[in-house]
Amino acid sequence: MTAVRTSGEVSRQTHEDPAASGPARASMQSPAATRAHPAAAMLEPALRTLADGVRSGRRRDLAKAITLVESSRQDDEWRASALLQALQPHTGTSFRIGISGAPGAGKSTFIEALGLFLTSRGHKVAVLAVDPSSTISGGSILGDKTRMERLARDPAAFIRPSPSGGTLGGVARKTREALAVCEAAGYDVVIVETVGVGQSETAVAAMTDFFVLLTLPNAGDDLQAIKRGIVELTDLVLVNKADLDRNAAELARAQVASAFSMLRSRDAWWKPPALTLSAATGEGLAAFWDVAERFRAAAAGNGALAARRRAQALAAMHAELDRALRARFERHPAVRREFDAVARAVTEGTMTPGSAVARLLALAGGG
Ligand code: GDP
Repeated sequence: MTAVRTSGEVSRQTHEDPAASGPARASMQSPAATRAHPAAAMLEPALRTLADGVRSGRRRDLAKAITLVESSRQDDEWRASALLQALQPHTGTSFRIGISGAPGAGKSTFIEALGLFLTSRGHKVAVLAVDPSSTISGGSILGDKTRMERLARDPAAFIRPSPSGGTLGGVARKTREALAVCEAAGYDVVIVETVGVGQSETAVAAMTDFFVLLTLPNAGDDLQAIKRGIVELTDLVLVNKADLDRNAAELARAQVASAFSMLRSRDAWWKPPALTLSAATGEGLAAFWDVAERFRAAAAGNGALAARRRAQALAAMHAELDRALRARFERHPAVRREFDAVARAVTEGTMTPGSAVARLLALAGGG
């Protein structure tokens, strides 16, 4: 779990002339450097300093780097991409844990307790979030300053609210990239929180190693969710607030465990366990961590972890390709000019969606 920390490593992989700029730079690279990765080879001095700052664990640089990857400005996207490529060799080092649960299930209480438990054991813990509602409300989970106050003060922890704005896909991409930046900064446990039931859980499961569902005793809706499809994502269920009613918590735990035993799990080699927890008192926290570590060791040993990450990286590439192609398409001057008229023709029923797309593609020179 320890990241190799050689300061200056990032700059050693670059061979650029800092004075050069624009496309001319690419042609000035040695062929090998260009082949290795043009973006890394073109790292400009300010970005190299930022990358070094991230690598040495400076929180300000970490926050700055995440702000850069969250930016939607086009020139920032280019710089973020170069930064991420430079940090890439130092990523993949953390245990990535996804945590989901309905509002009020106790996610922030649990994440704070777990974070403090882990930092007291020498881990460096980053907490990120995917909250699609932040797109609508402008606020976000983790945005509330009163959440996780103690963990926020812990020097071995780093908490970042969900990026806001854009589609769920956009929010998820930014969080996935922030996760990589945290890994490069030496955080060896990264927790990604999400809320509710649905697409955001799929997005978080697609960027984490271990997906945990937090539920409550008598949470019928959550049990339905477990039956409906979350089961395919979930690696472990925690029945929280066991301190309020131990019997109810134990009953819920048994129900969840039996639901899982009847359904196909995410991996054939792992039957998702159900445990009771009191995030408020810390009871059950150590047992949870034991199981989490057992999962990680088993998944690392049997190749499932590597396979999961390979599949995730490939899926992320496809998602990124879709996004980039679409953005490039929408920037095309002829498409911009005609788009509204074509869309109107579709809504008025004078043009089919298929011929509208064919027309727009033809305008963009793509078909
Ligand atoms: P979130 O919306 O899922 O992040 O839930 P919170 O962590 O904000 O918790 C919602 C409420 O439940 C808060 O008032 C917490 O203090 C309380 N809570 C969380 N965990 C526990 C627990 O284990 N036991 C009890 N009794 N209360 C808890």
